Amino acid sequence: MKALVTGGAGFIGSHLADALRLGGAEVHIIDNLSSGLREQVHPSARLHEEDITMENISDLIQAIRPDVLFHLAAQIDVQSSIANPAQDSNTNVVGTLRILQACKQSGVRKLVFSSTSAVYGEGSQYPKDESMATSPISFYGLSKDTAEKSIRLFHRLSGLPYTILRYSNVYGPRQTSRGEGGVISVFMNKLKQNLPLTVHGTGEQTRDFIYVQDIVEANLAAVRKGDGQTVNISTGRRTSINQLVDLLKRIHEPELGVEHSPARAGDIRDSCLDNRLAERVLEWSPRSSLIEGLKQTYRSILT
Ligand code: NAD
Repeated sequence: MKALVTGGAGFIGSHLADALRLGGAEVHIIDNLSSGLREQVHPSARLHEEDITMENISDLIQAIRPDVLFHLAAQIDVQSSIANPAQDSNTNVVGTLRILQACKQSGVRKLVFSSTSAVYGEGSQYPKDESMATSPISFYGLSKDTAEKSIRLFHRLSGLPYTILRYSNVYGPRQTSRGEGGVISVFMNKLKQNLPLTVHGTGEQTRDFIYVQDIVEANLAAVRKGDGQTVNISTGRRTSINQLVDLLKRIHEPELGVEHSPARAGDIRDSCLDNRLAERVLEWSPRSSLIEGLKQTYRSILT
């Protein structure tokens, strides 16, 4: 199999590229290294240092002729999307439209798209399932929602097979402190510097933390399954920030300091995605427990 991973020098994309190489695939990566790192690229994957929004990106993809295209390259920072919505939309919407046209022109057999729980926005009903309407509350959520809709429309018009994966809060080795799900990486960096952890508000706000290796497995499953589906990829469990701190206390031997600060404006209180559709259509379910995933992340950052 020949695979193309956009954003393959980033946090999730680099783990996916590693797994694809391990499985024997020929792996190409398109990444402009705006947040990704050259040293995260698997040594035997081919890095094309290009921007997905370039008008002629299709020429490069036609030259590669991938069987499967995993589209992860994105502007992922919610606050940046609010400060600069046009730039966010350029990468996440225009970039996706360029990738779609390139898929058609180069005969891609399957597109697997990385989307996000941010498309759902707020609401009182948890966990959120795929039948619920999307109603984003940031330009990042809106651009991902628009990218999803563009993929579905493109499929109707041209028949391109696709699967859309909506991730909850992903964590694991190589994650930086910005963007989505960053609280674990923020806390790990604090532990590394022996600084206290800052908990905003009461700490009772919850997130659905999913380990990066489980995200990789969902992408691999989507190569052959889940055609035409939009699927949540999550644990389906809510973990509060206070519970997260308690787990970190079990992993980190030195005394762990905790500070409290006022709740941040714009932070949603709870986030949790129902993953039962993924179990049915992708035959996928998360395998890493939070404590195991935290231990792996801790080892990679602190040792
Ligand atoms: P990341 O920032 O580590 O990776 C994104 C990669 O895309 C980077 O390597 C960056 O250099 C590259 N990139 C950005 N703009 C580009 C452009 N115009 N052209 C080419 N390359 C470009 O982020 P990540 O956490 O690995 O996220 C990967 C995908 O997963 C994104 O699509 C994101 O929306 C989605 N996602 C992530 C999370 C999470 O918790 N991390 C949650 C939900 C969805």
